[in-house]
Amino acid sequence: MPELPEVEVTRRGIAGPLHGARVQRARLGKPLRWPLGCSTAALEGLRVGEVGRRGKYLWLPLSPDIAPHGRTGLQAPAGDGATGGLLLHLGMSGSLALLPDAPAPGPYDHFDLVTDRGTLRLNDPRRFGAVVWSPALDAPPAAALLLRLGAEPFDPALTPEAFHARLQQRRAPIKAVLLAGDVVVGAGNIYACEALFQAGIHPALRADRISRPRAARLLAALRSTLARALALGGSTLRDFTDVHGASGAYQAEAAVYGRAGQPCGRCGSLLRRRVQAQRSTYFCATCQRR
Ligand SMILES: [Zn+2]
Repeated sequence: MPELPEVEVTRRGIAGPLHGARVQRARLGKPLRWPLGCSTAALEGLRVGEVGRRGKYLWLPLSPDIAPHGRTGLQAPAGDGATGGLLLHLGMSGSLALLPDAPAPGPYDHFDLVTDRGTLRLNDPRRFGAVVWSPALDAPPAAALLLRLGAEPFDPALTPEAFHARLQQRRAPIKAVLLAGDVVVGAGNIYACEALFQAGIHPALRADRISRPRAARLLAALRSTLARALALGGSTLRDFTDVHGASGAYQAEAAVYGRAGQPCGRCGSLLRRRVQAQRSTYFCATCQRR
């Protein structure tokens, strides 16, 4: 499953080339998780703004093409309602590529945005991904999809105090709270396991029992695991279409994830695996305390 580092690496790969690109046409393949919400013809002629990201969603702002003053005299009619954007999610198996010279779409290519800078193509064999038109990020339908997302992990407003205060409101095990993504986004399974190990926190510890200093250590650990994955994703991906690139590269150097039965690098105890919230949790019962 593409995790936040893969989505951010994708954003960095497409944002520059697509900024200012003009949409020539769009094409839909088989139905994705949700309908597009507008006709593909309605996207024609719009220009792409600065590609953003919120959690694992990408946001492609689209606005009418306004000719410079005094050149053609052609301007988009005021208030024609076209300003908005596309909210994209890669689901379980999706990947985006920006193709300078796109070949004919294959059986798993379910969305194309053809622009004068290349074709942005969504390949998604399992079709849990989505491309949805929304008039704004804070208007329906985007607002409803983003409503329950927690803080961005690198948002400076997410201070250790704020993180601790939000954990205080949750009684579930910390691992499950991290995976739920409603306190902080980006803690996918591998990153949650690794951050808890780095911070020395047992994955089954109730979130509201985590002290303020331990919450601060956990937030720092989560940021360092994600930063490392981003660095690996940026450096090891030849292109950003490898949906497992960043997590896969990170996994190769993970301290606990996928290493049940192997000795802990810190204390030598054998690492353990247990199932929590229907996901495998890897941890060291000696180094990670309740
Ligand atoms: Zn250990």
